[in-house]
Amino acid sequence: MTTYKVGKVLHYINGKFVEGVAGKSFENINPFNNEVINEVAEGFAEDIDLAVKAAKKAFDDVPWGTMSVDERMKYILRIAALIEENAEEIAYLESLDTGLPISQTKKQASRAAENFRFYAQMVKSRMVGEAYKVDGDFINYTIYKPIGVAGLITPWNTPFMLETWKVAPALATGNTVVLKPAEWSPLTANKLAEIIHEAGLPEGVFNIVHGFGETAGASLVRHSDVRLISFTGETTTGAEIIKNSADTLKKTSMELGGKSPAIIFADADLEKALDAVVWGVFSLNGERCTANSRLFLEKSIYDSFVERLKERVQNISVGDPLDSSTELGPLIHKKHWETVLHYIEIAKKEGAEVFSGNVPQSLKNGNFVPPTLLLNCHNGMKVAQEEIFGPVMAVIPFETEEEVIKMANDVKYGLAAYVWTNNLKRGHRIVQSIESGMAWVNSQNVRDLRIPFGGTKYSGIGREGGHYSFDFYTEVQVIHVAIGDHHIPQFGKSKKA
Ligand code: NAD
Repeated sequence: MTTYKVGKVLHYINGKFVEGVAGKSFENINPFNNEVINEVAEGFAEDIDLAVKAAKKAFDDVPWGTMSVDERMKYILRIAALIEENAEEIAYLESLDTGLPISQTKKQASRAAENFRFYAQMVKSRMVGEAYKVDGDFINYTIYKPIGVAGLITPWNTPFMLETWKVAPALATGNTVVLKPAEWSPLTANKLAEIIHEAGLPEGVFNIVHGFGETAGASLVRHSDVRLISFTGETTTGAEIIKNSADTLKKTSMELGGKSPAIIFADADLEKALDAVVWGVFSLNGERCTANSRLFLEKSIYDSFVERLKERVQNISVGDPLDSSTELGPLIHKKHWETVLHYIEIAKKEGAEVFSGNVPQSLKNGNFVPPTLLLNCHNGMKVAQEEIFGPVMAVIPFETEEEVIKMANDVKYGLAAYVWTNNLKRGHRIVQSIESGMAWVNSQNVRDLRIPFGGTKYSGIGREGGHYSFDFYTEVQVIHVAIGDHHIPQFGKSKKA
């Protein structure tokens, strides 16, 4: 495999790669061996201010939001093409930085490129909205306008894809951007800056400030010239961001945590259901917001299905994320690794039977957690209620449809749900009773780009994807034009006249 050189990561402000104002840096750690990969410039309020000023100037003075859509889309399509050209490097950097297996990160660049193309097409067809001719005297119509400086704050799981999910619609609709990527995964965000630089976007249209949430992130949220914040991350962080953005009345979009149920009935295609739930919780190292981290099994199949789960778990290939045969890599960071292991200890104390796969001894320097089943759980346990965000699945038996719907909903999150049954009426009935933003019947986590993505309850506010992102990154303006003669009440006009 080709390896790629990784140097110091700098901020990207006003079209230049720059050190931070304070001259500070932090170390970026490789989750496979806990060695330092590189240094990263650390940004604070001053760096955010410079980036926001550049973005505001680009919005106000540079024709980005107001340039012809065709011209702006040339840049967007150039970014898509460059992402595809750099797909191998993007996958390599993502796996090196996050520990996600390269077989899984390889698909992400093409999905990101597709997303840029998708919004290029949508913007061309949607910047003018509805139009009505009213009683022959008026035309009322709507137009969509970019909002201004968009603050984008992203997490470390699938960072490149999640960043581009926000950057593509934000830029395509004519906003300028300041991105604050997650501090544990700066490499592909930096690659995105290089790509955008190469695509020749005008200075200031796209900016990145690296750094920590409480400093760089919070400064972006509080900045008075930032008009909106699109956030993906933990629920508690989302709540903090909503509070901090209130004074400057920002529009916000929140994509937050999950504890999604998969429900399997005895009449389902059990082989497919098995493939789906194993993939759904152990792919992306279990660091997937839509992971089916609670598995509800109909009692009659509980024992036999658990046996098959155990077999799969023992065979999952745990290893170097850069090895194409690896199915499960190391978790992002030592701190997160400790949290996940702590949850496994809690599960034991709560009375769950813990069944884990294997991690070869040669991997002891990395943040490896074996694929783990928490068996004979009940829905009230902490490990069935809280997001663990690792390769850990709580397995819970159920007897009736009513009981399983109640348990599925008895959790603070509401991101995704999966139901497996060959009784389609029941499938529809159940997913419609589940409090989740998204649900799949006899299918795993696949989504067409036109369809919205997001959660309800503590899993988020708003939706991303399809026209939902278009609507979020634009302001609709209503225009009324008189085209005929019409009566206007004549206040104050002399009665004698
Ligand atoms: P996190 O909330 O810790 O961090 C996310 C980002 O927010 C980082 O860039 C961080 O620096 C920044 N941040 C932290 N504190 C901040 C503050 N006070 N002000 C502004 N920014 C701040 O989340 P994480 O650990 O990086 O990501 C994992 C979480 O993301 C999980 O809960 C997962 O479910 C969720 N997630 C949700 C979705 C979704 O679409 N619903 C997708 C992926 C991940």
